[in-house]
Amino acid sequence: MNNNQNILIATANHGKAEEIKKIFQGTDFTLKFLFDFPEELKDLHIIENANSFEGNALIKAIVAGDILNLITLADDSGLCVDALGGRPGIYSARYSGEGNDRSNYLKVLKEMKDVPLTKRGCNHNCSVAIYDPATKFVDTVSGIWEARVALEPKGNKSFGYAPIVMAKDFDYLKTNAEFDPEELISINHRGQAFGKAIKVLENYLKQC
Ligand code: IMP
Repeated sequence: MNNNQNILIATANHGKAEEIKKIFQGTDFTLKFLFDFPEELKDLHIIENANSFEGNALIKAIVAGDILNLITLADDSGLCVDALGGRPGIYSARYSGEGNDRSNYLKVLKEMKDVPLTKRGCNHNCSVAIYDPATKFVDTVSGIWEARVALEPKGNKSFGYAPIVMAKDFDYLKTNAEFDPEELISINHRGQAFGKAIKVLENYLKQC
C-alpha cells in the first residue's frame, strides 16, 4: 500500500468527519472530505433513493468517487425502532419533515408514548460502501448497535437521535447525548462499520 493513500469520505457533516478521523487514527490513510472540494462539487446533489442503508451508501460513494476520481468511502446510517416496525430507518434524517434533529426525535417519542420501557428496543445501523473508480471495485460493510428508546430526551453532547437513545453497552442507563462523542466512537455503529471498512481497504490495496 502507498504510504498516505488519499481516501475520500463522502460526507459533508463536520460532526461525522471528526468521528471518522478518530477511527482512522494510526492508519496510513490521509482523509479528504466533501468540504475539501467546494469548487469541484459545487453542483453536487446526491439523490439517496435506495431502499436500504447499504444502497444509499453505495449511491453516495459512486457519485462522489467518480467525480473526484478518488477511492471513496460513504456511510448511511439511521435509527430502527422495533415498536415502529423499523422506522424511522432509512428516513431517519428527514423523519419529521422539518429537517432538524429535535423534531425528528420528538416525533419518535410521540409515536411511542404508550410503549413501556422494556418494549422500546431499537438499534443504530450504519452501512459503509467502499468504491474505487479506477477499477470499479465495490464492497459494503455494516455495524449495528443495540439500544432502547428513552422515555424523555436527555443530554446535549451528541447529534441526531442521541438524546433519546440509551445503548445496551451502557446498561440502558444514560442516553448517548450524555457521553462525549469520543466515548462512543470505538463501540458504536459507525465505529464498527468503519473499522471493518479499513480492513477491506487494506486488503484491497495489498492486491493492487
Ligand atoms: P445520515 O447517515 O447522516 O444520513 O444520518 C441519518 C440520520 O440518523 C440523521 O438524522 C442523523 O442525525 C442520525 N444519526 C446518524 N448517526 C447517528 C448517531 O451516531 N447518533 C444519533 N443519531 C445519528
